[in-house]
Amino acid sequence: MPEIAVRMTKRNHNAFVHLLGALESQGFDLGELLVTKDFNEILKARPKVVLYSFFTEEIWGDLPHEVKRLKERGALLIAGGYHAIAMPKHTLNQLGFDIAVIGEGEEVLYQLLTTLKKTGYKITKELLNIMGLSFYLDGELTFTGFAKVENFWRFPPYPESLRLISPIEISRGCPFSCYYCQTPYIKGLRMRHRPIDQIVRYSRRMKDIRYITPNAFAYGSPGAILKLNKLEALLKALQPLRKEGRRLFYGTFPSEVRPEFVLPETLELLTDYADNRRLAIGAQSGDDAMLKAMHRIHKVEHVKRAVEYMLEYGFEPVVDFIVGLPNESEESQRKSIELMEWVMKKGGKVRAHYFMPLPGTPYARCKPSPLDDEMKKFLGRMASKGKIEGSWGKQVELSRKLQRLIEEFYEEPMSHTVPVRNVC
Ligand code: SF4
Repeated sequence: MPEIAVRMTKRNHNAFVHLLGALESQGFDLGELLVTKDFNEILKARPKVVLYSFFTEEIWGDLPHEVKRLKERGALLIAGGYHAIAMPKHTLNQLGFDIAVIGEGEEVLYQLLTTLKKTGYKITKELLNIMGLSFYLDGELTFTGFAKVENFWRFPPYPESLRLISPIEISRGCPFSCYYCQTPYIKGLRMRHRPIDQIVRYSRRMKDIRYITPNAFAYGSPGAILKLNKLEALLKALQPLRKEGRRLFYGTFPSEVRPEFVLPETLELLTDYADNRRLAIGAQSGDDAMLKAMHRIHKVEHVKRAVEYMLEYGFEPVVDFIVGLPNESEESQRKSIELMEWVMKKGGKVRAHYFMPLPGTPYARCKPSPLDDEMKKFLGRMASKGKIEGSWGKQVELSRKLQRLIEEFYEEPMSHTVPVRNVC
């Protein structure tokens, strides 16, 4: 029976596929692992160690129940992912995990599992030599530092010995530091990229080719500027795969592009070299003052220009908004309504999200602003007509839970590069 199990879920699938690729490439035999989305299979196997990776919102789902069942069986539980990184004390003390992995996981996970195998799956002082862990040793909370993986592309996106596949992470890190977003604080401010030949090689395994990146048009750049030649080189290199019958989806689910990168030259590349005719951008607000306050860097005019260009080039714009942002006035909400209406009138789609104070971000301690009646009526009306997508309704409750969690268990966040500013 395998001694280590990987608790895969729909939400952590992509992360674990990449981590399993990294483990295998460092010499770990994946045959020793039970990798499954079926929790009962893990219970039956009675592994000594179970690996989890989850977002904060998942702590209100099945997770606590699963942890309890596994603890009863004496398993050592390891947590990675955004919640464990942003709230390691909560992960250990309240959720009941034994070890939290802090930072980028490729190297730390390999070192952790090989060490645990040698030490009989016990927490020992050997773990102090591994960067990127938090755990209790002799009753004392330890933190060994934030694990960073500068050249994440040294690790393949997929394992060879398991039939697992996911959209490939082609770029990591983001320099924009939007205050509501966890990515720059956990993945770093400098964008790094997987080399083209590797992307092409692994993309062959997908019928519909999709990628993970914070800004698909920033491929090849440090992140804040467009490197058209690099983007073109990537898209051109993928053309033989399209000729073999695969479809290439670029700048759309599960990634998106920033509005100011939507230009005739980038859209021409997509027209020539990709199959999607839908493109997702984040507008977030229709008020320049709010965009400035949340450190978005771009302005409303960039969003409008991007939508106009997309329509001109035959792309359906999908535009994301956040409503209920901290310190959002009635006037700001009215401006967002105006911009949403403008996008829809033009023929674009709007996706509305309610503000969520995520741990580990500068906005973690900020309160959402109440939605005024005009905004509530507008969103309700548009949703009933099928004109607005998004789950802002459900997110209102989730946002409240996050506020309560952060009020009660706030932790000074650790970060990849810069300290995380507390804006509120
Ligand atoms: S929201 Fe997008 S652009 Fe802003 S920091 Fe996050 S990944 Fe970067």
